[in-house]
Amino acid sequence: MHYFRYVGNRLCCEGVSVESLAKRYGTPLYVYSQRTLTEHFQKLDRAMAQVDHLICFAVKSNSNQAVLRTLADLGGGFDIVSEGELRRVMAAGGDPAKCAFAGVGKTEGEIEFALKQGVYSFNVESEPELERINRIAARLKKKAPVAVRVNPNVDAHTHAKISTGTYQHKFGIAYEQVEGVYARAARLKNLSLRGFQMHIGSQLTSVQPFEQAVQKVLPLVKRLKAAYGLEFVSIGGGLGIVYNPALESGLPRWWESRQAKTILTPTLYAARLVPLLKPLGLRVVMEPGRFISGNAGILVTRIEYVKRTGKKNFLIVDAAMNDLIRPAFYDAYHEIVPLRRKNGALVNSDVVGPICESGDFFAKDRPLPRSGEGDYLALLSAGAYGFVMASNYNTRSQAAEVLVNGKLSALVRERQPVAEIWAGENPAPWQV
Ligand SMILES: *Cc1c(COP(=O)(O)O)cnc(C)c1O
Repeated sequence: MHYFRYVGNRLCCEGVSVESLAKRYGTPLYVYSQRTLTEHFQKLDRAMAQVDHLICFAVKSNSNQAVLRTLADLGGGFDIVSEGELRRVMAAGGDPAKCAFAGVGKTEGEIEFALKQGVYSFNVESEPELERINRIAARLKKKAPVAVRVNPNVDAHTHAKISTGTYQHKFGIAYEQVEGVYARAARLKNLSLRGFQMHIGSQLTSVQPFEQAVQKVLPLVKRLKAAYGLEFVSIGGGLGIVYNPALESGLPRWWESRQAKTILTPTLYAARLVPLLKPLGLRVVMEPGRFISGNAGILVTRIEYVKRTGKKNFLIVDAAMNDLIRPAFYDAYHEIVPLRRKNGALVNSDVVGPICESGDFFAKDRPLPRSGEGDYLALLSAGAYGFVMASNYNTRSQAAEVLVNGKLSALVRERQPVAEIWAGENPAPWQV
């Protein structure tokens, strides 16, 4: 579901022509739809209405201040993985008391900062981390709220690089060891055992792995609640989205299938999980990232050259893997559409960036309308794990970002000035 639609032959984000934004702000350009972000949050919120719950948006999926502000204004909490993310949330007006701090490598400085800000919970991934948090809390004369992340050893059936819930992975504490860990944690005086956490992977397109994981941990959570008076159970994020509506719907092009089928809806997710979770009598915490932000953003790019070789038709665009690394990193599929809809024959094309890497591509042998230099394309579903993973590889500036709300649009991140890229660099003293 999203609000990127053709109106006439022009691709619009809500009530704004995307081409007008591309001309005004230049490309490569990320464009986000506030209405899409809002509706995704509200759909999940409504679906879970039967249980006390807290939706903690995974900041790592999209950390733009305007995006975070949108979710903070809706009453959302945040799933954070660093001090930087916590500072970002606070700068955007988010409430630290609704922040869950995840991650296997929290430093002493990060723990101290988060404790002082009063985060909702530290989601702890190892015994040494429990001891470290206890030590710092003692020094600050505080009690640290903690939840232990269990690794339920359930296969999420997703891409290897975003699967997290089996014993092959660095995340969480093995299911069989968790009770012992809680028992030892209960003896640490400056910890308060508040919850139980798991997150089995990302881009899950079926409800079964979630169900399987929840079913597996239920008896354990009941025992832990009875023993330590837990307040919440966090079932993590991972709800998958539709990246390829054309394939899903069996229709030739996405713009002919306005209502592409969603593979895993919040309604289905809630219908299967709420009956399992409700009897626990605990608050349910969720940490969706991609489900909220993924289809709420696109990456707009301009065609610089059309290069025809004997075998291929290359569309060389001004966006590159430094702007959106998902195709190179996760073998990800992104739907690509022109900003001006065209009828006529489709040409199998490779959409590639200017970076000096063969991995710098967005699509291979993709049937696309015949295009020329100066035409604009949009890469859809780029709102999650897009801009946040941008780098300066090849000394390319990071793209600008725009937020649209109805007929309004605003530049919510300026294009990075190129000299900023080397601003902290200097020749060594003996070179002057
Ligand atoms: C990445 C992550 C999430 C969010 O994952 P999505 O697939 O974007 O929903 C939630 N919780 C934890 C612990 C994560 O590492």
